[in-house]
Amino acid sequence: MTSSSLAPMRAALRGMKAYSPDADCAIDLSDNTNLWGSPPAAMRTLAAMASLARYPEGYSETLKGALARYVGMSPESIVVGCGSDDVLESAIRACAEPGERLAFMDPSFVMIPAFARVHGLDVVRIPLAPGYGPDVARFVETNATVSYICSPNNPTGVPIDRRDVEAIVNGTTGAVIIDEAYAEFAQSSFVDLVERSERVVIARTLSKAFGLAGLRVGYAIASPPLVREIEKARGPFKVGGPSERAALAAINEDREWVSARVTDAIQCRERLLGALRDLGLAPLPSAANFVLVPVEGALEIGQRLRERGIAVRPFAALPTIGDALRITVGPWPMMETLIANLSEVLAECA
Ligand code: PMP
Repeated sequence: MTSSSLAPMRAALRGMKAYSPDADCAIDLSDNTNLWGSPPAAMRTLAAMASLARYPEGYSETLKGALARYVGMSPESIVVGCGSDDVLESAIRACAEPGERLAFMDPSFVMIPAFARVHGLDVVRIPLAPGYGPDVARFVETNATVSYICSPNNPTGVPIDRRDVEAIVNGTTGAVIIDEAYAEFAQSSFVDLVERSERVVIARTLSKAFGLAGLRVGYAIASPPLVREIEKARGPFKVGGPSERAALAAINEDREWVSARVTDAIQCRERLLGALRDLGLAPLPSAANFVLVPVEGALEIGQRLRERGIAVRPFAALPTIGDALRITVGPWPMMETLIANLSEVLAECA
């Protein structure tokens, strides 16, 4: 690559801030991780690690086998990486050349436009349609090299209607990335579309329902030829040995723990939605382990909650939605503390 072809990417990077999460709060409801903790077999496996002297498997073949059984696909259809961030970024790199376009529903996962810009892609923001789904007509009309959609969407929590997903896949000719980081909480998936289209990539993670965000293990499901391209763009040894072993244990032995925590999260989510409505708010319907509450002055409210030791994710002026707080669902006592404090902060800000 010549230095002049790097110029647009350097320019894009100059305008970007490095992401620096800082949640040193007593109650951290800001990042949609599993607030019930981590699954037992994974933790036992990490504690029993005897040596780190050897490299892990280059492309995590054993882990791919376990994930393939979990999602009901062949191991050749699976690619794993250092979190689904890594898998998404590798997929974008594999599917598009600098100067081509990536279209995404806006608002959605904040890292997507960042990955696109770092790879020199032109970003097309497509505001959400009424009902908070993707604007199918605009995705089809844009026909970008990569179309990114997310179900349930982050930060709304709203799942995408199957007809909309199919219309985007059928109406475009580029790659369609469907981010299912929160699929376990929605208890639905579009994995079956991989068998119908060689252009579909489903991105998943062990960071949410599996309670293993610290391991940094994500994966994607796609047609075997596309998986090979994504692996080339990704490179070997992206999942460390302890992560590979612990992830394997979780998938093989901790599934009951995961299901029980998903049930807990769904029950607490529904209670939280009710409690927020009782405060006079209008949270969006959620199929994830977080809820989005439109509320004016969200940044100020978020700051005041933080001063009280509670971190939520505040947003200012989201397209279609406006100011809003995104709140991770956790065990009910945490939710009660949040509600009590939010009620006081809302009264202070009124
Ligand atoms: N996709 C979505 C929609 C997310 O919300 C997140 C994390 N917040 C990710 C992907 C990345 O997760 P990870 O890299 O931990 O797998």
